[in-house]
Amino acid sequence: MSKYWNERVQRLEPYVPGEQPKDKKYVKLNTNENPYPPSPKVIRAIKEAADDRLRLYPDPEAEQLRAALADHYHLSPAHVFIGNGSDEVLAFSFMSFFSPEKPVMFADITYSFYKVYADLCALRPEIIPLDEAFRIPVQDFCRPGGGVVIPNPNAPTGRGITTESIRKILEADPDRVVIIDEAYVNFGGTSVVPLVKEYPNLLVVQTLSKFCALAGIRVGFAFGSPELIDGLNRLKNSINSYTIDRLALTGARAAVEDLSYSRHMAERVITTREQAERSLRELGFQIIPSESNFIFITHPDYEAEQLFNQLKQKGILVRYFHQPRISNYLRVTIGTDNEMNQLIAAMKKLLNH
Ligand code: PMP
Repeated sequence: MSKYWNERVQRLEPYVPGEQPKDKKYVKLNTNENPYPPSPKVIRAIKEAADDRLRLYPDPEAEQLRAALADHYHLSPAHVFIGNGSDEVLAFSFMSFFSPEKPVMFADITYSFYKVYADLCALRPEIIPLDEAFRIPVQDFCRPGGGVVIPNPNAPTGRGITTESIRKILEADPDRVVIIDEAYVNFGGTSVVPLVKEYPNLLVVQTLSKFCALAGIRVGFAFGSPELIDGLNRLKNSINSYTIDRLALTGARAAVEDLSYSRHMAERVITTREQAERSLRELGFQIIPSESNFIFITHPDYEAEQLFNQLKQKGILVRYFHQPRISNYLRVTIGTDNEMNQLIAAMKKLLNH
């Protein structure tokens, strides 16, 4: 605490990102990064853009990138908003669409940044418990309220929700905004971007961080009705007009124009995930069905926290959450085949198999 902090900052409980360790080289399976490099076309485009044009501000409207995304999804650029990573898009969305008078609903086990944004905006979250198998209880999200946020697939469980269920939640109260966070949708889920023309209260948030292996350039998007996108622009232009730098804009556009590369890499991740799931089940792990580039695992005979610490000592980083209901789970990002083999070999030793 500091006497210089205002009351708002004193009250904050900031999000804690997964470790980016500097002490030694780890097999890093803790922050859901893509194990493969971005498209070579992205690297080339960024290198070519690194010249004296950097003295100029970037395009505040990100027009070319929005046009490329709109093209891909058969929308108009008026349906697209670009942010500095989807975390920024989510923060702007909480600030733009939710109010303290009515509760904003999200699950008890979900991306922990939602609670941080809700507190930052002095909102009243209504926390909806997932069922015993960590599925979204759709009926509970159909109650009227001030807004809904659901990742599809959910994090850290990896479980998806059907398009039919999302439609039900959207239709239950057309006066509130429903945010579907599709950070991981390209690893086996089904996107609801095509629904944005049908539902003016739907905002779909995506990122280049995972699918396009570009966590390092920080680009995220939102797709929604022009009125939602206008709201986000009003807010953005009241904070910082130039949220995306020139190199990121150029790289992002190259990535969107080469999505077949990312699809190919995502196929590899999915194949590796299925193989890792089989091996971990043989060791007695239980695994939540995943549509994502990570798996959520628990073992009936071994404590997750202890396994987390033992793996770290062996140079393998996974993610552990000290949180009710999931304190005996580990979230493991899918790495390369070689990285997953190292994880499984380490687990075999720890479990005396
Ligand atoms: N949503 C979810 C569910 C996530 O797990 C993450 C990554 N931590 C994000 C959004 C944010 O991703 P980024 O800011 O890199 O786009």
